[in-house]
Amino acid sequence: MSASAIASLPQPPAQRVHACLAGEGGGDAAQQLRRLVDAGCDRLPLPGQGATLARWQALAAVAAHDLSLAKLYEGHTDALAILAELGGAPGPAGALWGTWAAEAPPARATLTPDGRLRGAKAWCSGAASLTHALVTAWRPGREHPQLVAVALRQPGVRVDGQGWQAVGMAGSATAVVHFDDAPAIAVGAEGAYLDRPGFWQGGAGIAACWWGSACTIGQALHRAARQPSAPPWRQAALGRTDVALQSTAALLRAAAAWIDAHPRAPAQAVALRTRQSAERTARTVLDEAGQALGAAPFCQDAAFARHAADLPVFIRQSHGPKDDAALGQFAAQEEAPWTL
Ligand SMILES: Cc1cc2nc3c(=O)[nH]c(=O)nc-3n(C[C@H](O)[C@H](O)[C@H](O)COP(=O)(O)OP(=O)(O)OC[C@H]3O[C@@H](n4cnc5c(N)ncnc54)[C@H](O)[C@@H]3O)c2cc1C
Repeated sequence: MSASAIASLPQPPAQRVHACLAGEGGGDAAQQLRRLVDAGCDRLPLPGQGATLARWQALAAVAAHDLSLAKLYEGHTDALAILAELGGAPGPAGALWGTWAAEAPPARATLTPDGRLRGAKAWCSGAASLTHALVTAWRPGREHPQLVAVALRQPGVRVDGQGWQAVGMAGSATAVVHFDDAPAIAVGAEGAYLDRPGFWQGGAGIAACWWGSACTIGQALHRAARQPSAPPWRQAALGRTDVALQSTAALLRAAAAWIDAHPRAPAQAVALRTRQSAERTARTVLDEAGQALGAAPFCQDAAFARHAADLPVFIRQSHGPKDDAALGQFAAQEEAPWTL
């Protein structure tokens, strides 16, 4: 959706998300995703079209509510952005999309010459509940993956959730999916999934999810530190939390503005910076809130307990030191990487 189309909507996307989730009647993550989609809350501004921050604010709003839902919502909205970018058909009205691109040996999906998916795909969030997925698959002997769109409710698709023993992020219902010559439609050219600017633009959207969940954890500390009797060490913990959350928020705002100003430029360094910052912020906030508040919110505050279980798992989607090194390589190429 273009920035002008978004501007004509009655409310910014994050506010529509808040309104939809405030009125929601519970249910699992897939049922909540269905409600968001039916309410039009998946119609987000596309990255790089002038309202990237509004897109990320919506992702953060969903993540602040529930991270498993955010995992499905981020995958669905990412799929819609990828289809728009690579010229794929958006699928039937009401379709619920997953984006399954993890390459986790031995699970590997191959694409036959007549366009059929064969093999397995690991790390498929929401597999049993979604209707369609974008999947990276390999033609034999080729060096780059081909992105394909596949309908999930067909005989050639089998979901195996037996290996999913998660406690944190349990609600994302992430499974292994087996494809048995399921018909699939190529989306974009071979290698286009990774090469397009939207790949890293979307990667930064994950950082917005981590940040949104960290805010929910931080809010428990904020409430406690606002009590008249709050001890100084609790204020200090809130101070460190504030620095962490504000720093990542500033990076996210700067990254969104940069992407809007350079929509076709490689965004890897910008995305890695936001992701590494958001991951560290999440860890800081979990640590500070946990130490300052003790066990009580982990055991008596349902939202805090849910986020405290989910967030450490979700941030493991970061590639940790590997991404630090990649970012360091970008910084090393700059003569003077840091300016005000
Ligand atoms: C709840 C959940 C839901 C998911 N849902 C989806 C989904 O719907 N779609 C999808 O495509 N994917 C999904 N994923 C998968 C995710 O995107 C990753 O593919 C998966 O977590 C494996 O990550 P990894 O490649 O970093 O792990 P590994 O490669 O196994 O790495 C493990 C750890 O080793 C360290 N490491 C790795 N390489 C290096 C290196 N060179 N130097 C230093 N350290 C290194 C990193 O710290 C990393 O955390 C999901 C993951 C989770 C946790």
